[in-house]
Amino acid sequence: MYDNFLRFVKVINYVIYARLSKEEQGKSPEAQSRSIKNQIKVCQNYIAEEKRNYPNCEFREVAILKDDGVSGTTFNREDFNKLVKLIEQKEANMVITKDLSRLGRDHIQTDDYIEKWFPEHNVRYVSIMENIDTYGDLVSNEIAPIINWSNENFARQTSKKIKKTFKEYRQEGKWTGGEIPLGYKKDPDNKYHFIIDEEGKEIVKRIFNLALENNSLNKIGKILQKDHVPLPSIVKKNQRNLNINLWSNNTIKAILQNEMYLGHMVQGKTTRLNHKSKKIIYLPKENWDIVKNTHEAIIDIETFKNVQLLFKNNKNKTFNSYDYLLKGLIKCQECQHRISIQTYKKRKNCYTVCNYYRKYGSQKNVCTAHRFNYYELEKLVLENIKETCFKYIDKNKLKEIIKDYQQNEQIIEDIKKNINKCKQEIIKLNRQIEDIYNDKLEGIISKEQYQNISQNKYKTLEYEKKKMLRYITYLKETNNNQVKQDYEKIINDFLNLNNKLIILNLIEVIYLKQDGTIDIYYKIQNPNK
Ligand SMILES: [Zn+2]
Repeated sequence: MYDNFLRFVKVINYVIYARLSKEEQGKSPEAQSRSIKNQIKVCQNYIAEEKRNYPNCEFREVAILKDDGVSGTTFNREDFNKLVKLIEQKEANMVITKDLSRLGRDHIQTDDYIEKWFPEHNVRYVSIMENIDTYGDLVSNEIAPIINWSNENFARQTSKKIKKTFKEYRQEGKWTGGEIPLGYKKDPDNKYHFIIDEEGKEIVKRIFNLALENNSLNKIGKILQKDHVPLPSIVKKNQRNLNINLWSNNTIKAILQNEMYLGHMVQGKTTRLNHKSKKIIYLPKENWDIVKNTHEAIIDIETFKNVQLLFKNNKNKTFNSYDYLLKGLIKCQECQHRISIQTYKKRKNCYTVCNYYRKYGSQKNVCTAHRFNYYELEKLVLENIKETCFKYIDKNKLKEIIKDYQQNEQIIEDIKKNINKCKQEIIKLNRQIEDIYNDKLEGIISKEQYQNISQNKYKTLEYEKKKMLRYITYLKETNNNQVKQDYEKIINDFLNLNNKLIILNLIEVIYLKQDGTIDIYYKIQNPNK
């Protein structure tokens, strides 16, 4: 079974450890079998068998240690301390006990030794009666052939195991600890679940709205500061950051990018390099554990997407510099690098420039400047957008559609309210049915009375369930209509204002050629197609 392992580990320095508490010392046959001598004999037999199975390995007995008359609830035992020392001095790499309780009776501490301390010290631990062999897991692993004693696989294996249980929880959408986002708190009835924290929720909503208005992180921070909006650490009564009284860009950014606000449980974003390292590694998104709709959302998907869109186009992410309408959207047709906007004299004069040219042009003769007046370019693009988008739109028709859209929103609100009413009613009826049943059990009402009342309640319950189902179907249909109308909504916004968000929603990329012509790639399609 251990062939692979033993091929690489030639010398096994083992320690036999035996222990007997005062209560266990006695003359009965049972007590005798537990006696120190017997424990050692069992361990020696085990080693003898190992030797026969693996003639190429050398088994060296480092010590036979015994704590006689010492309880297993403490680890402060004379010979056990010797064992620890031998391992720390790397004189032993295997520990054998007859059974697990010889090692210790405090299972938390014992587990700690088996799962952490021994593996961390590259020690194989064997408990004969329970068939525990900390090496067993390792062998079944495919990487076994490349293992050798000095490497860290023992520990790696153990740390993987612990992580796996957390991972399992996370894959079920259960909160496994760490910081709870502002706006939520732990559900007192379910430690894996979040509920809304009203005070925090309002702050989060406000931050998203400020971001939607294309305020920079700095600006948002200043506004919150001015209105004395408490920091997350204060709202959450988490005293840790109390001495820092400023809304930092990082705090705001973390809130704006947190998908938990959509009602999803997002965990497992980081891991550690290995069991020893404290260094945190950020995992790519495809490795995160995301379970959708585990708690109530604070931010709707549309708002969230738009805020991310604003982020994506502010590559520096500080929101500090002046935000030109087309910034981040222009690319060089010739070399495919980004085109940036250079500002002179307080933005009166701005020119485009190919980033690649700017960086290397003087040394390597790559690309060309692509230097054009930015405002002229912007004018051209806006004209094109109007032409392209308005071509398909009859403004009067648009107004009608928008009216519909607004009515639709009202309808959706009403349906949601009705669904909620049904839900409450169903909960109430279930509780009443349970109460009536208890009344019957306690003899407060007769069996006949019970049947009469409960029959009525069940009928109402069925009725409410059907009603709710109807509303849900209706909501789905109405929501579908809404998706179709999003395009009109964007155009309507566009008719009114030149907001960066609109541009980001309309345009994928603009290619600028060295002859000064542009190609605009739109995100939207002709809605009449
Ligand atoms: Zn270029």
